[in-house]
Amino acid sequence: MHLADLQEYMTYMSQLGFTGLALETDPFILTPQRKVPAPRLVVTPKADPPSKPKGPNLVDIMESVNLTMTEEDTQTMVNGVTGNDPVEVLRNLYKIFRSCESCALGTTRRKFVFGEGPHNARLMFVGEAPGEDEDVTGRPFVGAAGKLLTRIIEAMNLSRNEVFITNVVKCRPAGDRPPLPDEIGSCSPVLVKQIETVKPEIIVALGATAFRFFKGGNGSIMRGRGNMLEWRGIPVMPTFHPAYILRNPRSKREVWEDMKKVIAILAR
Ligand code: SF4
Repeated sequence: MHLADLQEYMTYMSQLGFTGLALETDPFILTPQRKVPAPRLVVTPKADPPSKPKGPNLVDIMESVNLTMTEEDTQTMVNGVTGNDPVEVLRNLYKIFRSCESCALGTTRRKFVFGEGPHNARLMFVGEAPGEDEDVTGRPFVGAAGKLLTRIIEAMNLSRNEVFITNVVKCRPAGDRPPLPDEIGSCSPVLVKQIETVKPEIIVALGATAFRFFKGGNGSIMRGRGNMLEWRGIPVMPTFHPAYILRNPRSKREVWEDMKKVIAILAR
């Protein structure tokens, strides 16, 4: 990095409240001095309500049958999750799909990974699919790539519990292969419902699968990253997946440039 670029970068970070860099070459290892707001209500797989709603409802019905849904059924079930309370909508969405076997991934996963974060998060991260650590824990981005994502979020002067984190598909593809088009098609109604419920101001698409989901059709993340998209009126910033950053550490700089654009939108 040139001296002028470094000065600009340091000034920018100072304006954001950061006063120190642990490593000059790593923008994600930073020490935020500004206190982050208290976390808002977080919806996680563990956050089941203490008691069920009175009388039979959609969740009761779905839990009483063996789920072997088609893609159309998946959309139908998502359409059945209604209500004005976003927490309840997310909770019901989770309860309905935690046993889903609408695509082949449902037969090989260990845990369904819904995603987590505040019901009203301003920023949503969408990755590709759960990996092994996520498959074991049922939580998104908890492995090495997840730890890097947490550092990226903290470098943006946010905390992990202020953002919503999920994936395009909610079950781990065996061997961590990319999900197939029919698997994405089956699972995408869940993601769409999550987005419609949380209503983030901006979405970060992590990696090629998420980039293509929001862009539609095929496309190269190498060429698409950094170029803001719009999906149903929501700005979407495509960038590299943290797992790619781990394999290609030099890409951190490009990701940081992308995150600066996201910060700018959140600061408006
Ligand atoms: S990936 Fe999605 S559609 Fe496929 S089984 Fe899991 S929850 Fe159902």
